[in-house]
Amino acid sequence: MNRELGQLHVYFLPMMAPGHMIPMIDIARKFANHGMRSTIVTTHLNAKPFSKTIERDRENGNEINITLFKFPCREAGLPEGCESLSSTTTSEMSLNFHKALGLIQEPVQKILQEGQPDCIVAGAYFWWANDIAVKLNIPKLSFYGTGFFPWCILHSLREHKPHENVRSDSEEFIIPGLPDAIKTSRRQIPNQIKDGDNHPMAEMITKVLNAEMSSYGLIVNSFYELEPTYAKHYKEVHGRKAWHIGPVSLFNKSYEDKTHRGKEATSSDHNCLSWLNSKKPNSVLFVCFGSMSLFTKAQLFEIAEGLEASGQQFIWAVRENAKDVPEEFERRMEGRGLIIKGWAPQVLILDHEAIGGFITHCGWNSLLEGVAAGVPMVTWPLSAEQFYNEKLVVEVLKTGIPVGAQEWTERTKDSEPIKGENIENAVVQLMLGEESETIRSRARKLGDMAKRAVEKGGSSDTELNSLLEEIRVYHL
Ligand code: UDP
Repeated sequence: MNRELGQLHVYFLPMMAPGHMIPMIDIARKFANHGMRSTIVTTHLNAKPFSKTIERDRENGNEINITLFKFPCREAGLPEGCESLSSTTTSEMSLNFHKALGLIQEPVQKILQEGQPDCIVAGAYFWWANDIAVKLNIPKLSFYGTGFFPWCILHSLREHKPHENVRSDSEEFIIPGLPDAIKTSRRQIPNQIKDGDNHPMAEMITKVLNAEMSSYGLIVNSFYELEPTYAKHYKEVHGRKAWHIGPVSLFNKSYEDKTHRGKEATSSDHNCLSWLNSKKPNSVLFVCFGSMSLFTKAQLFEIAEGLEASGQQFIWAVRENAKDVPEEFERRMEGRGLIIKGWAPQVLILDHEAIGGFITHCGWNSLLEGVAAGVPMVTWPLSAEQFYNEKLVVEVLKTGIPVGAQEWTERTKDSEPIKGENIENAVVQLMLGEESETIRSRARKLGDMAKRAVEKGGSSDTELNSLLEEIRVYHL
């Protein structure tokens, strides 16, 4: 703590999953860049992918550190090394992982008490960080990695429970109390909401939401112009403080920062860029389903069929199950399609002028990174809050074409594959359809707004400065 010199110390506790870690690291780095002292509290394996980046920041004079604690794999019944939600492959592992998050309360509390920070920014599931903040008499900010639109839907469904008044899983109903008439059905709602108190994580989810409501406020990776009515709705209807400071991916300006964001890219980024450099503007589709998806061999086959039949050029990032991509397909697609087997430098790829479309699972980060790059999307939600995010893209922003996914599925359970024909149709409609140019031009405008938001004096830059000022004033 160095309050006399005006430098405040903020501790960041990112939830251990790439979709939460990546944006929170961006935020911690941005705080340090604005004169705060940032300390990221995490485990060895979670720190590894970004420790070089933090080292670089330190060499550039920013006050940013990593403090490590041991993840209780054995105590929670997890295999050694399973320190990220993305490493869990069964429902049992995922439940044990959440159990482990409860067990780290004590070691983290010790770190915080010794560090005496001036503020805590904690990720989803660290509901207990509120109590630590009360003891230390400091503000605790929540960061749950998603936007205002899905938050408003989640709160409405929990409060009004409209899904309990329908006769079938496919019957559509309007989600009550929102600025737009957004429809959904039971099929698209996460089990955690549908099952209510009977869900195995019900108690924890209630604690998480209570912690959100009783924390000092929420940091949101979004920008005002993206979802103005929902930003207002969240703050006014729920009476909560919230600061939209994103898209945080745009904090990464240098080639190095963009390339090493998240994990080390599998194929050399140079290969990927030189391949893209040989293509015309807006002529390549980027296909990536985030860090958590677990597709079956049958689904990968359908994706391959759909991409081939669409006649479009593409980069397809297939993570862990890359061995299941049909070999014949890879050979046939040489020159037309690049398959990245592992981690892709997503932000770098999306930023390239050759990218003309993005098939996305609608994870909030991917959605925002696609928006920031000004790229239209084929939306293919799978689980989490992704079906809500799809509605923002397709119905509110009108910058996407749905592939036709209807059924929310637990990520560790197999779902009925989306057929190649549906994928082909959505891709062709996005890249060549009558509406293609209109959708593209809307997406481009939105991308320009996103970039302006984080520039000096833009809506997100202003919010970030007022948040930092509020933390300073809290300690006067
Ligand atoms: N990502 C990436 N390369 C990949 C897969 C994912 O860089 O091959 C990044 C992506 O840019 C995003 C994050 O991982 O920042 C995934 O977060 P998102 O919210 O989109 O989805 P989740 O993984 O949480 O389902």
